[in-house]
Amino acid sequence: MAILEMENVDVYYGNSHVLFDLSLDVEENEVVVLLGRNGAGKTTTLRSIVGSVPRREGRITYRGTDIADAAVDRISGMGIKLVPEDRRIFPTLTVHENLQVAAETAGDPRPVEEMYEIFPTLDDLRDSLGRDLSGGEQQMLSVGRALVQNPDLLLLDEPTEGLAPVIVEDLRRVFREIVEEDVTVLLTEQNVQFALDLAERAYVIEKGSNVWEGSVPELRERDDLLEEYLSVS
Ligand code: ATP
Repeated sequence: MAILEMENVDVYYGNSHVLFDLSLDVEENEVVVLLGRNGAGKTTTLRSIVGSVPRREGRITYRGTDIADAAVDRISGMGIKLVPEDRRIFPTLTVHENLQVAAETAGDPRPVEEMYEIFPTLDDLRDSLGRDLSGGEQQMLSVGRALVQNPDLLLLDEPTEGLAPVIVEDLRRVFREIVEEDVTVLLTEQNVQFALDLAERAYVIEKGSNVWEGSVPELRERDDLLEEYLSVS
C-alpha cells in the first residue's frame, strides 16, 4: 500500500511555477529515489511533502489523509521527517544536546543512546559543538536528529553532497541499516551510484515534471536516461 501519494502537484515560489503536474508514490518500507539534474525540482518536491513551500496545488496524501493544505508542524507530527540539504544542526549546541532537543520535540522519540549505536562516530563526539564537526559528522548528526524522532517516512535531500568517499561509504552502511529497520525512505541524490545501490525504485524529474519512473534494475539498463537527464554514462 502506498503511504505517500502525490497526484498532479504544482508548486509555485511567488510567480515562479516550479513543479508541473508531478505525481509519485512511495510504498510502505520502500526506498525510492528522486533523480534529476541541478534545479530539476527535487528539493522542491521534498519541501512540498513537508509543507514548506509557499504554494502547492494538487493532491498529497499520507496514509490516506490529505496533507496538501496541512501546516509544517502537523505534517511533522504525522511522522514525516526531512533531513535538509543544508543539515540545519544547532552550531552552538553539543552533539548530545542536538539529539536531545530533537528527541524532546518528538511525540514518540527513540532513545538518544540508540543514535550512538547507529553512529559510533557521534558517540566519540558527544560533547563537541555542532559548529566544530566536519561535513560528514554534521550529516550524521542531521540524520541522527531525524531518526531519533522515530520517523515513519524519512526524506533525505542529497545526503552525500560534498562528502568524502569514505564518509559516503559509512553513510551507505547506516542507510542500509535504517532501511532494514522498516523506515520508509524517499531520497534525492546527485550521486547516482549511491542512490541506485540503496533504492528499489526511481523517479527521474526534469524541469519540474516526471520524465521516467521504474525499478532500479530497469534504470540500470537505461544508459540513455542516465546520460540525458543525469549526466552519467
Ligand atoms: P539542486 O540539486 O540544485 O538543489 P533541485 O533539483 O533540488 O536542485 P530545486 O532546488 O527544487 O531543484 O529547484 C527547482 C527550481 O526552483 C529551480 O529553478 C530553482 O531555481 C527554483 N527555486 C528553488 N527555490 C526557490 C525559491 N525559494 N524561490 C524561487 N525559486 C526557487
